[in-house]
Amino acid sequence: MSNRKFRFAPSPTGYLHVGNARVAIANWLLARQVGGEFVLRLDDTDIERSKPEYAVAIEEDLRWLGLDWDSSFRQTERLQRYELSAEHLKETGRLYPCFESEEELAFKRERRRREGKPPLYDREALRMTPEQIEKAIANGKTPYWRFKLSPRIVEWEDGVLGRRTVKLTAISDPVLIRADGSFLYTFTSVVDDLETGITDVIRGEDHVTNTGVQLDIFEALGGLPKRLRFGHLPLLTDADGGQLSKRLGTMGLRQLRRDGMEPASITGYLAALGSSKDPVAAAPKDMVETYSLAAVSKSAARFDPKQLLALNRRYLHALPFEAVKEKLPEGADEAFWLAIRGNLDLLTEASHWFDAARGHIMPVEQPEERDFLKVALETLPMEPWNDDTWSAWSGALGQRTSRKGKALFLPLRRALTGEDHGPDLKTFLPLIGRERAASRLTQSMG
Ligand code: GLU
Repeated sequence: MSNRKFRFAPSPTGYLHVGNARVAIANWLLARQVGGEFVLRLDDTDIERSKPEYAVAIEEDLRWLGLDWDSSFRQTERLQRYELSAEHLKETGRLYPCFESEEELAFKRERRRREGKPPLYDREALRMTPEQIEKAIANGKTPYWRFKLSPRIVEWEDGVLGRRTVKLTAISDPVLIRADGSFLYTFTSVVDDLETGITDVIRGEDHVTNTGVQLDIFEALGGLPKRLRFGHLPLLTDADGGQLSKRLGTMGLRQLRRDGMEPASITGYLAALGSSKDPVAAAPKDMVETYSLAAVSKSAARFDPKQLLALNRRYLHALPFEAVKEKLPEGADEAFWLAIRGNLDLLTEASHWFDAARGHIMPVEQPEERDFLKVALETLPMEPWNDDTWSAWSGALGQRTSRKGKALFLPLRRALTGEDHGPDLKTFLPLIGRERAASRLTQSMG
């Protein structure tokens, strides 16, 4: 084991979507690549929005993707640690009490805007005397607490974005503790990264400003910022370059799973997204050697569900029976799988083809084809059937009816499978068997 330690820190306020999954995969792959540790941390200090069922679902979804972790914890288990660190910051004058209401702050922001100044917090609370603070508290006000940012520019070498700077004087002092005593993620995350020995923070580009602020808090708590490496993954957009966040509901891992998407397609696609590499479906464990943060482009990456589906299709088409048999309908054998895999977009479609092969389907009614179907029924060969049966039968039928191409094949396919398109009948017809085929031809006459 190396001494590198990575973490994935979702807030259990909803289900994971492809954006979170991409971050989780990157952290996991990098940790495994260097023989480091991977920690799952649940950022659940927002008590109103965090739900235990989301925490359970997050773990389930990560496992489904093929990710595991060396340890995990919830932030609400560590409230005492946050109290201690907050005390330290109060003692050193970095955390100061504030009393302004939302309305007052909005008013002040507006006034600064009118004066042509940036709408920054003016640190008025920092100028309060101890007596004024006492008086405010005696008057029934409860303070919330802001962190006093250093007047400097924070710099770091980002693993994806290159050299990055954040000018702290251009940011309002962040609130770290709410009036009800609850902690904000900006703070708890730093305490955890420091105390759990995190060395690498890989997360979304939306956290770049946070990184500047958090490095300042990190140092104020006695951390050595050089210990931390950061990598910010550019945001995902939808296929047209628009904000993906609006569609994240449909891009939830749960939804993709329900749709029948293979986890390997998702992980392979997300690992290659925004890089020069061509995506190939692959389980995380098969990408450990090849993944590289340096290959990720600095600009936003497009998440295109059509590309993901195409990847899934290619993957299924080559998937051996052994890899899939557990997920197929009861009774499905290798011959069935090999006959249908080339026609699947999603594995869930297999059950429809299983019904078509071994169960019941509604043949397309084609009264206009009655005469043709009658001949088809009469010429239907006796069993046993094999891979030659279809060409022998359709060949003979073609000769007798002088039909060929679509006019010959489409009515048969519709009658036998209920569909216009589907598996090659050479391999599929023997799966249907004579009895079912005969009854479908009869039904299809209408
Ligand atoms: N809980 C934060 C989020 O989901 C974590 C960000 C981070 O990785 O520090 O955005």
